[in-house]
Amino acid sequence: MPMTSDEIRETYLSFFQQRGHHLLRSAPLVPATHDPSVLLTTAGMHPLKPYFQGVEAPPARRLTSCQKCFRSTDIENVGNTLRHLTFFEMLGNFSIGDYFKAEVIRFAWELSTEGFGLDPDRIWVTVFGGDEELGLGPDEEAIELWLQVGVPRERIVECDREDNFWQAGPTGPCGPCSELYLDRGLEFGKPDDLPAGENERFLEFWNLVFMQFNQDPVNTLTPLPSKNIDTGLGLNRFAAMLQGKESVFETDQFWPLIELGQELSGRRYGQDEETTRALRILADHSRAMTFLVADGVVPSNEDRGYILRRVMRRAIQHGRRIGIEPGFLPRFADEVERLMGNAYPELLEQREAIRKWLAAEEESFGRTLEQGTRMLDELIAQAKGNGEEGLGAADVFQLHDTYGFPIEVTREIAAEHDLGVDESGFEALMEQQRTRARLGGKGGGAKDELRERAVELAGDAGFQSEFTGYVTTAQET
Ligand code: ATP
Ligand code: MG
Ligand code: MG
Ligand code: MG
Repeated sequence: MPMTSDEIRETYLSFFQQRGHHLLRSAPLVPATHDPSVLLTTAGMHPLKPYFQGVEAPPARRLTSCQKCFRSTDIENVGNTLRHLTFFEMLGNFSIGDYFKAEVIRFAWELSTEGFGLDPDRIWVTVFGGDEELGLGPDEEAIELWLQVGVPRERIVECDREDNFWQAGPTGPCGPCSELYLDRGLEFGKPDDLPAGENERFLEFWNLVFMQFNQDPVNTLTPLPSKNIDTGLGLNRFAAMLQGKESVFETDQFWPLIELGQELSGRRYGQDEETTRALRILADHSRAMTFLVADGVVPSNEDRGYILRRVMRRAIQHGRRIGIEPGFLPRFADEVERLMGNAYPELLEQREAIRKWLAAEEESFGRTLEQGTRMLDELIAQAKGNGEEGLGAADVFQLHDTYGFPIEVTREIAAEHDLGVDESGFEALMEQQRTRARLGGKGGGAKDELRERAVELAGDAGFQSEFTGYVTTAQET
């Protein structure tokens, strides 16, 4: 029997606890206020940043955790690749000025091969190949250490900064990294594929970061107070590997959600591309929204609230497209709670809030969704009929403004028909709207009236409580 996701989590954490690592609970998805650089936690190291930077003392110099992560940059990957999720669990082991490269490479090798039983001949590794701008050469030390544990030179690949120099954001702790990949064989790719390229033959599962620098805004690196280790292994991806599944969506934590989608839609996973994609998006996004609301995020038009709204609306649209009757988001949340509630009790504690926000968004968006979809279908047909390459800014703006279609969703549906969208024109209209709202917000009779009218219009479109600063006046123009 292959390991379940719960067993993988347990095996990883106890391996490192047995090696002197202090177990940390997952921090919330919403970072503590001392980190303005990210909206949501995207890696296990985020909550530990103050330790790496030397501004706070860690509870121990060796730490291990299973961290809830959310990557908004991967939203559009979900459904299109076999490996990307928005919300996922990242296992990690960390050293704050304790062990460094040699130990972490040995730990990773031992746990991957002996602990989890991966075939050593199928593991490839990448190392940092150097970068002129950063003033760093290739990581010869890492190459030597991988040779020592037994990886042959031809399976050690040197990569550039993009893939093998890790940083959490534009500034902050960073360093060269080394990653582990599993070669899943030719059914997933071609003979000349290599790790780190955009192929699914080599599945990246573990990133070892040798965190020794701090990056400042002008691209200079200064050494951190100590040499640290930060690693991240994607639990869900790893489960796909160990459970012999093609994608993360067929693993134990996802399959029941796919089955729920099948039951509600009457369609089968794998029957056609649209259905498979929609079922994957529903499974991922319903987990994401459930965990986001449990950590206190509510749908809105700004910042994290907007990210939440985006995944909610994308899920609602895809659910409707495959014929699921409205009111389904709370049913998915029930299933997420059943699957994950043991490991994450906040799902039970926040049950009411989760149900409430999911139902509310589905209802308010549902009202304009059909009209918006009809409008978008017409626009697409027109554009194609006229031989145009994309949708005009005014139309995309109206879809956003009147029908609540996030531009990302419009872009995605347009792309399915080989059409683009006028992004810069759209941005200009957004900017105009913001300026209008700013002016309107400063008081002054006529402008206040305009603003009130805008709020009213937004209300008619079903968004009353959520509009914040800049509301629409587009219907008047
Ligand atoms: P990829 O190249 O596949 O996008 P990454 O290089 O962006 O992954 P890292 O930032 O190195 O990922 O994160 C460490 C680990 O977290 C990865 O090796 C992977 O196992 C996991 N991981 C990263 N992004 C995702 C995601 N979107 N969904 C699931 N797991 C992920
Ligand atoms: Mg990535
Ligand atoms: Mg990568
Ligand atoms: Mg990586």
